[in-house]
Amino acid sequence: MATQLLQNHELFESILEGLPDAIIIADRSQRIVFANRVLTELFSLKRDPVGRDIVEVVLDHRISRLVKQALDSDHAVTEQLKLTVGVNGGSREITLSITAESIDANLIKILLRDDTQRVETEQVRRDFVANASHELRTPLSIINGYIENLLDGAIENEALARRFLGIMKKHGDRIARIVEDMLTISKFESATQDPTRAGVFDLHSCVSDVIERLHPLVEEKEATLQFTPSDKDAFIAGDRFYWDQIFFNLIENALKQNLNPGLRINVLIEDRGDDLQITVSDSGVGIPQSDLPFIFKRFYRVEKHHSKEIKGTGLGLSIVKRAVEAHGGTVSARSVPGQETAFVIVVPKASNDAIASFENASN
Ligand code: ATP
Ligand code: MG
Repeated sequence: MATQLLQNHELFESILEGLPDAIIIADRSQRIVFANRVLTELFSLKRDPVGRDIVEVVLDHRISRLVKQALDSDHAVTEQLKLTVGVNGGSREITLSITAESIDANLIKILLRDDTQRVETEQVRRDFVANASHELRTPLSIINGYIENLLDGAIENEALARRFLGIMKKHGDRIARIVEDMLTISKFESATQDPTRAGVFDLHSCVSDVIERLHPLVEEKEATLQFTPSDKDAFIAGDRFYWDQIFFNLIENALKQNLNPGLRINVLIEDRGDDLQITVSDSGVGIPQSDLPFIFKRFYRVEKHHSKEIKGTGLGLSIVKRAVEAHGGTVSARSVPGQETAFVIVVPKASNDAIASFENASN
C-alpha cells in the first residue's frame, strides 16, 4: 500500500512537472505543498517555494485574495492579472490567467497561465486595424471631395478637371501603396513556408534592379547613389520578393526624407565569412537619438519629419525588420544627423549545398 501511494505520488508529480503552465498546490492556510518548475522559472525563484506562503512567493496580494475566494466557494475562480516579475536584476510586466479551485477540504490548486504574448499580439492587431483604417481614410476623403467638386461642375472646365484628376491619382496611388504593404504584412502573418526555402539568388542583382527603378527619383532629387558590391558572389537563400521591398524602402527613405540637393547614398555589401553585411547609408537629415528605438515599429514616423512634401505610412521599416528576421538576419540603425544615417543588415549566406542544388534545379 505504501509503495503504491509513493508510486502514485511520483506519477502525479511527473504529470504536474510536464504541464506548460505554472501550478501550485497549497493548504488552507495558503502554505505551498507543491509547485512545479514552470512556477520557479516564471517568478525567477532562487529558493524552493515549498513550505512558504503563496503571497511570499508571488509577491502579490491579489493572488492570495483569489485563492481565498476559491476556498470559500465550491467552484473554480478565474481572473486575469497583470503583474511585475523580476528578471536578471530587472523586471518585466506579465499577464497571467489564474484559476484557483479547491481539490478537497484541505487542499487547493492554483493554475497560472502566462498570457503575456497572446495579450500583446491581440493589442498589436487591434492597433494595426485602427491605424490602417485611419491612414486609408485621409486619402479616400480627399478623393471623394474632388469627385464632388467634379460633379458640381468642375468637370466642365477641362484644365481644372485635369488638375483635380492628377491630385486624385496621387492619393489613389497612396491607397494602393498602403494596401500593398498591408498585404505584405498579412503574407508574413499567414506564411506557412519558411522564406529561406523559396530559392537562392544574388543580392547584387536585386540591389542593381532596385537602383534602376529608383533612378528617376535620384535624378529628380539631384542625389548621388553609389553601390559597392562585395568582391565575391552574394548568394542568400530567400524570397527575392521581400528583398526588393527591403532595398526599395531603405533607399526610398533616404531620398524621401531629404529635400535638399546633394544627398549622398551608399549601398555596401561585404562578405563576412558565413554572413553578408549590407549597409545602406545616407548623408541626410538623419534620425534623432530619441526616435531611433522606435523606427522599426509599425506606423512609427519621426514627428519632426512630418510635412506636406514627405509622405509615408510608417510601415516600410517594420516590413524590413520582419523580412530580414524571417531570413535569419538582423537589422539595426544608427544616425548622426547631417553626417551619416546607416541601416545595417547582417544575413547568413546561402550554404554551398543550397547554391549547388539551386543551380542543378535551374539547369
Ligand atoms: P512607408 O515606408 O510606409 O511609405 P515611411 O517611409 O514614413 O512610410 P518607414 O520606412 O517605416 O516609414 O520609416 C519610418 C520613419 O523613419 C520615417 O517616417 C522617417 O521619419 C524615419 N526614417 C527612415 N529612414 C530614414 C532616413 N534614411 N533618414 C531620415 N529619416 C528616416
Ligand atoms: Mg519608408
